[in-house]
Amino acid sequence: MLNCSLLVRAVQQNVENGAPLWRGLALVTLLAVLPAHAEWYNAESTAMTTRIGVEFWTEMPDAAPALAEAVFAEFRRIEALMSSYRPTSVLSKINRDAANAAVSPGDELFALIQQAQAISRLSDGAFDITFSSVGVLYDYREHRRPDEQALKQALRLIDYRKIEMDSDKRTVRFLLPGMRLDLGGIAKGYAVDRGLAILQAAGILHARVSAGGDMRLLGDRLGKPWVLGVKDPRSMKAGTPENAVILPLADTAVSTSGDYERFYMDGDERVHHIVSPKTGQSASGLQSVTVLGPDATTTDGLSTAIFVLGLEKGLALVNRLNGIDAILIDQNHRLHYSTGLAPPN
Ligand code: ADP
Ligand code: MG
Repeated sequence: MLNCSLLVRAVQQNVENGAPLWRGLALVTLLAVLPAHAEWYNAESTAMTTRIGVEFWTEMPDAAPALAEAVFAEFRRIEALMSSYRPTSVLSKINRDAANAAVSPGDELFALIQQAQAISRLSDGAFDITFSSVGVLYDYREHRRPDEQALKQALRLIDYRKIEMDSDKRTVRFLLPGMRLDLGGIAKGYAVDRGLAILQAAGILHARVSAGGDMRLLGDRLGKPWVLGVKDPRSMKAGTPENAVILPLADTAVSTSGDYERFYMDGDERVHHIVSPKTGQSASGLQSVTVLGPDATTTDGLSTAIFVLGLEKGLALVNRLNGIDAILIDQNHRLHYSTGLAPPN
């Protein structure tokens, strides 16, 4: 790091010695562009009913709070656009009107629905944003779930292939009246990607943006990796959760879906927020899925998809996708790694 006081003294001497003024000015200009000091800046906020975390290395600490605030504002913008709970969101407009007439959601939301549809096709419908017809019948806080009759009715409305996407007109239409969408399985990852893009556009090279179980890492931690813990799903109640695995990482996105995030116990049965579109029940077989990939939109959608697919089909999907890896923890608390992560024999 350059010593600023030395430079100031040099400027003074130049002036005192009668050196040409321009040399002094050049040094003053140099001083103005040199960083005062660089530091890691950390901030937290709440949006999308979860904790948002931002951390980045900045050479302009004075500008850091406003930059973090811009990231949080982006989360709130996306929430206002895509929340299924807010009657004023564009997603709610789709849910209200798309069975009667094609709705134009705007390019951004149209593109995200297209990405969700791609993950539905990849996972053979394990990920399906029309799961919402059943999803709204659950209330985890109130320990409420649908009875058989209600479930049967709602299951008929789950089918991502019945969302008609017109790529020319960029409109969305429902082919089944009563259908509804929820982006809870992918929107947080999307917001993480957008938040990181804001930091990148401001010249940041080392950063972490997280929203609940979704995270994206830009660069490393100045020559060291970021260190991320995959939580032990059954240690969550203990107050300080323990890590099942520690991962050194850089330049990657990571999403975890678990049965411990939102749930209640009905006897021995764990009723939680990841729903099998086939049965309308909480997906069973795994305790958590952590997916690594190039961007958080993809890892968020895939972690939910793989959780629903279960151990064998889930691992098979990860292993045939380029640039995607995963760590699965099964019902017996055993760890499973995709081929890209598996330790050598
Ligand atoms: P979290 O929201 O805890 O980060 P996930 O990324 O796994 O966890 O997303 C779970 C959310 O995904 C649920 O709260 C719900 O909104 C949505 N979801 C549940 N089941 C499905 C499914 N089969 N397909 C698509 N989205 C789903
Ligand atoms: Mg997800």
